[in-house]
Amino acid sequence: MTTDIKTEIDFLPETDSSAALLEVRDLHVEFRTRDGVAHAVNGARFRLQSGQTLAILGESGCGKSVTAQAIMGILDTPPGFVTKGEVLYRGVDLLKLSEDERRRVRANKIAMIFQDALSALNPVFTVGFQLGEVFRKHLGMSRADAKKRAIELLDMVRIPAAAQRVNNYPHQFSGGMRQRVMIAMALALDPEVLIADEPTTALDVTVQAQIMKLLAELQAERNMGLILITHDMGVVADVADWISVMYAGRVVEEAPVHDIYARPAHPYTKALLESIPRLDLKGQQLNVIKGLPPNLTAIPSGCAFHPRCRYARDACRVDPPPPLYETGSGTTAACHFWKEVRGGE
Ligand code: SF4
Repeated sequence: MTTDIKTEIDFLPETDSSAALLEVRDLHVEFRTRDGVAHAVNGARFRLQSGQTLAILGESGCGKSVTAQAIMGILDTPPGFVTKGEVLYRGVDLLKLSEDERRRVRANKIAMIFQDALSALNPVFTVGFQLGEVFRKHLGMSRADAKKRAIELLDMVRIPAAAQRVNNYPHQFSGGMRQRVMIAMALALDPEVLIADEPTTALDVTVQAQIMKLLAELQAERNMGLILITHDMGVVADVADWISVMYAGRVVEEAPVHDIYARPAHPYTKALLESIPRLDLKGQQLNVIKGLPPNLTAIPSGCAFHPRCRYARDACRVDPPPPLYETGSGTTAACHFWKEVRGGE
């Protein structure tokens, strides 16, 4: 049994511990459909270090979940194809690994949790069996030992009476508790990176806050790199260190969380911030971003945000799209007029 443990870890690719934990460079993903080629990710980039939380923000269809799927190697191919770029885990380009090597990295080093815990769990098996399976399959543990570890995991994600709840089926848990089970499953093999794709969207506000707090605590305890994918700027304010805002498959602004909230440099970021409901503005109309995100088979020329942007002018409509301008030390924004957006810097 112990041989199995060694075998799986021994076959992990050799990595460089001095390199960034995870770095995405110029990632391009397209979906080849009957209606044309949808350019879902168009040069995404970011960096994540151990112990850091990166929030990737944007509306549905801006490319954040597809970026996560490309990192994990779980894109549906066809129709989805990574056409360019690098996904470096400790200096190793995951895009160049064999499917078998990627599966090992996915099982042991980079884990992901999804929005809908109910459909991710199998309704006919107890949560204990499903958690235990991770240990039986990857570490060759006996059924009894795997169950013991499953109870420890439920305890770790603060599920009360874990020794009893381990025998329950998914439908016997509330939405928040099921999401805790999914977190436990993702952390079972002690990954270095956790990607959480809209982990709280299906939950009510109080439970959302509890799950975010749990993720933040577990991340600090384990010094993990955490990527939070969300459309909701309100959710990440207290937990993220760094924010990358995506629009039409591109990163359009990247900065530490406090800078983004205090001095957004891209009109899209600014509009997302203005659309957060605020108690002090009770009774006033909520600002929503006019229009819809673009059709990815026909992304507007120039700056893809120009049809919805209140700062847009002629220069914004012509190619090439604005580059990521330096807006501070290490911060960038893809807007020709970022100084004006910030209020005349
Ligand atoms: Fe708006 Fe122009 Fe800036 Fe794009 S480049 S965000 S259209 S002002």
